[in-house]
Order: sequence, then C-alpha cells, then structure tokens
Amino acid sequence: MPYTPNDTERDALSRIRACLGPKGWVDDADALAPWLIDSRRVYEGRCLGMARPANTQEVAEILAIAYQAGLQIVPQGGNTGRVGGATPDATGRQLLLNLARMNSVRDVDAANYTMTVEAGCILKDLQGVAEQADRLFPLSLGAEGSCQIGGNLASNAGGINVVRYGNARDLVLGLEVVLPDGRIWNGLRRLRKDNTGYDLKQIFLGSEGTLGIITAAVLKLFPLPKERATALVAIADLDTAVTLLERARSASGDALMSFELMPGFALDWAEKHVEGAKQPFETTYDWTILMEIGGPRTDGAARIALESLLESAFEDGLVIDAVLPQSEDQRTQIWFLREAIVEAQVREGAQVKHDVSVPVSQVPRFIREANAAVAEMMPGIRPYPFGHVGDGNIHYNLSQPIDMPAAEFLGHYAKLQHRVHDVALSLDGSISAEHGIGRSKRDELLRCKSAVELDMMRSLKSLFDPKGLMNPGKTIPDA
Ligand SMILES: Cc1cc2nc3c(=O)[nH]c(=O)nc-3n(C[C@H](O)[C@H](O)[C@H](O)COP(=O)(O)OP(=O)(O)OC[C@H]3O[C@@H](n4cnc5c(N)ncnc54)[C@H](O)[C@@H]3O)c2cc1C
Repeated sequence: MPYTPNDTERDALSRIRACLGPKGWVDDADALAPWLIDSRRVYEGRCLGMARPANTQEVAEILAIAYQAGLQIVPQGGNTGRVGGATPDATGRQLLLNLARMNSVRDVDAANYTMTVEAGCILKDLQGVAEQADRLFPLSLGAEGSCQIGGNLASNAGGINVVRYGNARDLVLGLEVVLPDGRIWNGLRRLRKDNTGYDLKQIFLGSEGTLGIITAAVLKLFPLPKERATALVAIADLDTAVTLLERARSASGDALMSFELMPGFALDWAEKHVEGAKQPFETTYDWTILMEIGGPRTDGAARIALESLLESAFEDGLVIDAVLPQSEDQRTQIWFLREAIVEAQVREGAQVKHDVSVPVSQVPRFIREANAAVAEMMPGIRPYPFGHVGDGNIHYNLSQPIDMPAAEFLGHYAKLQHRVHDVALSLDGSISAEHGIGRSKRDELLRCKSAVELDMMRSLKSLFDPKGLMNPGKTIPDA
C-alpha cells in the first residue's frame, strides 16, 4: 500500500513543490525507480518524491518546511554508495533530496590551489576542471564518472591516491552546509590556516547525510604531475608488499601516488571475464602490486626513480617480475585491469565483501589470519583480497566455494563478516575504511565503538538534528 501523507505532510509537500518548480520535483514511479535502490541492489525503498533543488537557497527552504512538518530527509548524490546510505526506507514516508542540479563550479583560484564547487558536481568533471587550470584534484575512484562530490565528502571517500594526498576529508578547506532546520552555514573558507575554535567542517565530512546537507565545498588542489611512472610488479610474498611500500615512499621522496595489491589469480579472472582486460604476466603469481609515482616534469625523472627502485628490489629478491608500460595507452590498460578485477569477481559468483583497514604494517598478518579464519568456517571459500595497501585498506572479499549454491553461501554473510571484522579489530583495525556505515554496518558499529564514543556520536546527532529527520536509520546505531 502506498503511504498516504497526513494533512501537515501534504501541505508541506505542496509548499516544497511550489518552491522547486517542475524541474525540481520528481514523483513519477519510472523516473524514481533507479533512485530507490542502492548500487549493490541490496536495499530498495519508497519515498514521497524526489526534490532536486537548483541552489542552496532552495535546499534551505525545503529543509525549513520539512523541519516544521517533521518530514524525514534522505540526502542523495550519485547513488553509487556501497552501504545503502542514500536509499530511503520502505515506509514511503521519506523525502529524497538529490543534489544533481547543483553542479556549478563557483570559483577556481589557481594561485591559492583551491576550487569552490557545488555538491552535485560529478567527481570526474571536477578532476577535469582542475586539470584545465594545470592543477590536480586527486580524489579518484571507480565510481568517479557518476558519483558527486557532495556524496564523496559525506562519505569521506578514499580511492587510489590516498597514500599521497589523503582521504576526502583531507582535501577540504571549507564547506557550505544547510542544517536540518534550514539555516545555512557558510563555512566556505579558503584558508590553510584558521585556528578559530572547533573545526566544524570535519563534523560534516563523513557524516553520511545524518547532520545536514553539504551544498558546496572549497577543495584543495595540487600541482599537476607532468609524469606518471607506473609499474605492475609480482612480489615474492605478502610481507614484501609492506617492505616495497616503505622503499617506494622513500625512493620517490613520498611522490608515490598509488600502491594497489592484487592477488595474481585476480588478473586471470579479469582476463577471463572482462572484455579488454589482459593479464600481462605469463605466470599466475601469488601477489602483484600496481604502483605509480608522480613527477613534476616531463624529463623522465619519475621513471628513472621507479626503475632504480625496482632494480634494487629485484636484486634483493622482493620483486620477481615487472611490467612497465611504455605508453599512456599501456598505462591505461593496466589501470583498467585494476578496475576489472572488481567486475571479474562478480562474474565468479556470490560474494561477501569487506572494506576493512589495519595499520599498514599489519596488512600481511590480517590477510593471513582472515584467510585461515574463513577457511576454517567454510572449506573451499575463495578469499579475494585486494586494495589500497598504501593506506592499510583491504577490500577483503570472499567468493563462494565453487560447488556451493549462491544462496547457501550468502546465508553465511553475517557470520563471515563478523569473523573477518573480528580479525581486523584484533589488529587495531576498522570495519570501514572507505565506504562508511550507512545501513549495512550500523549494527557492527556497536561492537567497535566504546560507550563513550557512541555517546559522543549520539550527542552530536541530537545537537544538530534534534528531531532525528536527517537520514534516519543510517550510521548511528539506536541507543
Ligand atoms: C565501482 C565503485 C568503486 C568504488 N571505489 C571506491 C574506492 O576506491 N574508494 C572509496 O572510498 N569509495 C569507493 N566507492 C564508494 C564511493 O566512495 C561512493 O560510492 C561515493 O563516494 C558516493 O558518492 P555519491 O555521490 O554516489 O553518494 P550517494 O551514494 O548518493 O550517497 C552516499 C552517502 O552520502 C550522503 N550524501 C550524498 N550527498 C550528500 C550531500 N550533498 N550532503 C549530505 N549527505 C550527502 C547520502 O545520504 C549517503 O549516506 C566505490 C563505489 C563504486 C560504485
């Protein structure tokens, strides 16, 4: 049964529609459908309609009306999130608020190495805007063609360049936020030094839409690397990943931009399942690393640094094989392979996914202990750990045993996840390095935060959102 709004809600909705105009309101079932299901197709919801404001003032008006009427708001960017954070619940009583129309770049200040952008800008477009100004905006991840910067900031996204430039929260100097009651906080400061009390923007970064709507941000830019020296290497064993990482950071003067671990068989799976992906090695090695060093000039210095690093790593037995792309095309192919391993795993059957982090030095131990733990629980299970070793972040994914029906395997999802999280937590790790908590890890959060930490989180939530209207049911576990 579709939800029937009461008089107060109906009145609020008609005021919201009047404020937004026809371009800013969607309630047609077909048009809404893609926005009511999350990117993993785990959560599906319903809603009163989707508001698509064109500017900050409209967001403020919608929130003020919703606040008075007690309407719940689900903020949404590109809807690429992996934890169900942008999907409304099944009641049909929530209002989706999608920022896609707020996609202007307000300012690029090349001398200040900043750009001021609206929340609905697509990440890839912003990388292009920075590049046109001979600058780098380093946030880069698989969903960059459709995710929005507002969603990236709200979920504190990471990606492939964190080892050098940090997470989304490290890339922000200022924010504009509309609070749940409709007040606008203009914190769009472009300062690298500002010691005037609490750093409020950090409260909203990573808050997953539970405290307010991010409408604009001042983003940090960096010198655009003129050279990228890339290598795909096979390493002697898992421990070598950490040693090689240490060496690569030192040898490059910390210009190491990416350091991605992939099991050798993942490259085979990519070639088998994903058109255009090619395993470049003749042998299936146990472990491979895709690494990239950035350089400020086109004189080949980064490549020379990379080659000399690899030479000594070969001599010391750390690296046993390597492919160095000779052209931009070949480099693109290697990065395509890195992206393809994600799709390849999907084609191999059902998966249980994790997004954990541990101190970098503990990555090999984490993988070994998690492998042993899941094998004990389910003989034949196929661990598929890959990810951003440079940040201690492993997407510790599991593929179903070949002879087990998918449904049976997925029936063990919670138990497997619990066990893998146990291993990460025992090594001072986190159950979410990148994707956030959303709906899917809310209960798990309860066992990895202390009572004091949970209390502080809940206090902040009720301070900013006393009526509990912003993205209810997400991120913060019920008391
Ligand atoms: C193929 C693929 C690869 C990925 N790889 C990586 C990776 O390498 N590293 C990584 O960190 N992540 C990765 N991700 C996850 C990615 O970080 C998120 O999908 C993305 O940051 C979310 O952006 P979005 O615009 O789609 O937000 P949505 O999915 O729409 O929303 C995400 C959360 O933010 C909230 N929100 C959205 N916009 C706003 C706003 N303006 N104000 C307040 N709250 C808001 C939503 O309510 C929700 O809780 C990947 C995802 C995919 C699909």
